[in-house]
Amino acid sequence: MTKVVFLGTNTYPRDRESTSILIDNGEEKIVLDCCGGILKQLDRSSCNPAEIGHVFLSHVHGDHILGLPWLLMGSFIMRTQYNVRGVSSISIYGAKEVCDAAFKIAQTCFAKPMDALQKMVRLRLVAIDGENQIRISDNCLLQPIPAKHSTPTFGCKILFEKPSVSIVYSADTRPNEALAAIAQEADLLIHDAYVEDSRKEFALRTYHSTAKEAAEIAESARARTLALVHISEEYHGKENVLLEEARKIFKGRTILPHDLESLTF
Ligand SMILES: [Zn+2]
Ligand SMILES: [Zn+2]
Repeated sequence: MTKVVFLGTNTYPRDRESTSILIDNGEEKIVLDCCGGILKQLDRSSCNPAEIGHVFLSHVHGDHILGLPWLLMGSFIMRTQYNVRGVSSISIYGAKEVCDAAFKIAQTCFAKPMDALQKMVRLRLVAIDGENQIRISDNCLLQPIPAKHSTPTFGCKILFEKPSVSIVYSADTRPNEALAAIAQEADLLIHDAYVEDSRKEFALRTYHSTAKEAAEIAESARARTLALVHISEEYHGKENVLLEEARKIFKGRTILPHDLESLTF
């Protein structure tokens, strides 16, 4: 069974955390982007931070990487103060400059814990520089998907081979046909849906997608389920505007998850 937990679903963390997703298939625990409140959200999801072995960072913007120092700090605290054994290696995937920047922040802010953590666990920064699949475990592949954002950005496809489950994450992006091709018949497409389509000019200017555009990509990919994320905080209490707009286009199941909502496959 593969469980997907939406740790965060917004961009600016007011009522919701910024976008961050936990994927847990019982063997691998993978985090896609790190919201600032990641330790609180993992705790509420009954997931120990020391068990996270794979972290994908889509791009350098703060709403996606500022939780990494805390995630690593959590892994350290759990091992040293709570005797949690944890995973033996932590791999951080992303464009080289993104991995370097996020890890530099962690090392700068938490110098001694980071040095100590690296004596307890193998910490690997895995640079992504193209679309080549990365085997992250015996049963799991990560395929980077170049996105269309204001800074170098990758989305990704996470594929568990047995049983076959595919999860595609758009990251922050304008609509991306390459992503639609890779997301063909995905079990779950998690897509940027920053604003409604009447505010498309704002989405264009900030290199994000509207809910309608996310639904068009999901429809062209014939995904099974579409999850709208990276919602602008101005939609607090008006989430249905985005949901209804997407549901007019996409014939599969569309959700706009709240933080900590989960799906199983
Ligand atoms: Zn961004
Ligand atoms: Zn963002």
